[in-house]
Amino acid sequence: MERKVGFIGLGIMGKPMSLNLIEKGHTLTVFDLNQDAVAQLQAAGAYAATTAKEVAEKSDVIITMLPASKHVKEVILGENGILEGAKPGSVIVDMSSITPNVSRELAAEAAKLGVEMLDAPVSGGEPKAIDGTLSIMVGGKSDVFESVKSILNGMGKDIVLVGDNGCGVTAKLANQIIVNLNIAAMSEALVLAAKAGIDIEKMYEAIRGGLAGSTVLDAKVPMILERNFAPGGSIAINMKDITNVMDTAHEIGVPLPLSSQLLEIFHALKTDGKVNDDHASIVRYYEKLANTEVKKVEK
Ligand code: NAD
Repeated sequence: MERKVGFIGLGIMGKPMSLNLIEKGHTLTVFDLNQDAVAQLQAAGAYAATTAKEVAEKSDVIITMLPASKHVKEVILGENGILEGAKPGSVIVDMSSITPNVSRELAAEAAKLGVEMLDAPVSGGEPKAIDGTLSIMVGGKSDVFESVKSILNGMGKDIVLVGDNGCGVTAKLANQIIVNLNIAAMSEALVLAAKAGIDIEKMYEAIRGGLAGSTVLDAKVPMILERNFAPGGSIAINMKDITNVMDTAHEIGVPLPLSSQLLEIFHALKTDGKVNDDHASIVRYYEKLANTEVKKVEK
């Protein structure tokens, strides 16, 4: 029997992910505080619920794609939340990037009511959410994972069960260190090259096939050269993730010198009014230090 799917959180990521599920033939019930987002999904064929509880009542698998731990907690445990409406045997799949502690706590609360939970955060940003090729790192029981895999297939490409509850969001924290420090390293290099007077487009062409080449380089160099800092992944969201990285690391006794510097760079960018811009804006922190700009050479 087809399992009915609920989707809560229709933002930059959740909207294209839920649209992909509709396209794959799933029956969707959706909820968001933003009525415009709900209306767009309704126009695509989804049923609009008025609370998270109603989504849970009408669904067997309830997906959440919300900003941070506090929103996920509120939507699952709060008044008119998922656990007030979820049937025993239903599955919550939280695809938000939150802390491992909160994720495990929520899975334990759900289990008390016979409701299963997976943490299944994603990597790939808005472009991969749109074309349905997100990387999805999952934490939870393997039989529960297998039971929802066909639904996850509608949103992602590399879908891996990493371990028990909390392991998916832990993998995502590691992912965020690698992505954001990559952008920082790339920014140092670009600012050096720009102030030295090199044509950045030519440099990019020369190095992208070598060891310095990366998905980060291919995604962010063109954006920076166009001076396009529209998010994508905002400073706000990545700063939340690196804050979670530092809290989690300190709890288990892992010093992270580079990530802690990165967090300060994010705070500086926030003070500089760039919190809602793409995290490619890390380059603008370095540009300010060197009093230069990474831009295309006029030809
Ligand atoms: P977003 O802010 O664009 O969307 C979040 C949505 O949740 C909004 O539509 C908001 O109205 C809704 N919302 C908030 N509180 C709610 C509540 N109580 N009830 C119902 N709806 C509520 O965020 P996003 O960029 O889509 O990110 C979602 C998650 O995905 C975050 O955890 C983020 O870290 C992660 N993520 C984002 C990206 C990216 O590139 N944007 C990439 C990978 C992972």
